[in-house]
Amino acid sequence: MVHTEHAYAKLNLTLDILGRRPDGYHDMRMVMQSIDLRDEVTVTFREEPGLEVSTDLSYLPRGEGNIAAKAAARFFEATGSAPRGMSIDIQKHIPVCAGMAGGSSDGAAVLRILGRTCAPELPRERLEEIGELVGSDVPYCVRGGTVLAEGRGERLTDLPGLPSCFLVACKPACSISTPELFAQVRTKKLRCHPDTAGMTAALAAGDLEGVAHRLYNVFEDVLPRRYAQVFEMKSALLGLGAMAASMTGSGPTVFGIFWDEERARTAREALAAQYPAVFLCRTV
Ligand code: ATP
Repeated sequence: MVHTEHAYAKLNLTLDILGRRPDGYHDMRMVMQSIDLRDEVTVTFREEPGLEVSTDLSYLPRGEGNIAAKAAARFFEATGSAPRGMSIDIQKHIPVCAGMAGGSSDGAAVLRILGRTCAPELPRERLEEIGELVGSDVPYCVRGGTVLAEGRGERLTDLPGLPSCFLVACKPACSISTPELFAQVRTKKLRCHPDTAGMTAALAAGDLEGVAHRLYNVFEDVLPRRYAQVFEMKSALLGLGAMAASMTGSGPTVFGIFWDEERARTAREALAAQYPAVFLCRTV
């Protein structure tokens, strides 16, 4: 049997770090939004035991190192059901190491397929708990939509969706190390934090301008100078008519919110002349 699932990318409308926990993880508070940029994940069950992963990006891990394979392993351990022989194929469209949770979303798609096919009685919350064993962003990716994620990312609260708009996401060639950014947060200390309550109120009121005013990612405040490109992309998006722009996750992707489709298309074309991966997206 063949099962295919969309694995959607996410953007951070806010990203806040509240502190470091005794277990070494950080307590986060983030408003996340799924967008229609997506990978396609296909699980094919077969008679022979074992699990293999194929992707159209040759440099991604094919075995246990792939987040999709890890998700399958955690699923069978957690549910106590006998592992089934399967191959997982991933067609990647979400840029890798971009702050858009591409790998986590692939893992979440595998969990949704396995939940549906191998344990249909399993509640979604349990699938999200299994996701937590795979990675911090996986519980959110299992659920998707507009969500407040707290703790390591496992405490999820559904929020009203982002009002209708167009999103342009732009990824430069560089990549940023997430552990390096957390280390920067520890040494530099954060002075400003997102207005998360204001963001959730703006979402509840359907107030796109209020949402745009409150886009905020604390990682931007501790970015080492060599990532100045992030700020250049933000200025470019604003210059091209974005209502607001922000980095997503630990970067380096930056996105802008547009009212108007025409402006968003023009911005995408202008940025595509300069940056390797630029996407015009809608929310999911
Ligand atoms: P996040 O926003 O959750 O921090 P990210 O967008 O920064 O994620 P990903 O692209 O999800 O980063 O993952 C990058 C790392 O995970 C790379 O080192 C990559 O080799 C590894 N990886 C394993 N499986 C996958 C996968 N299915 N897709 C993408 N990367 C994967």
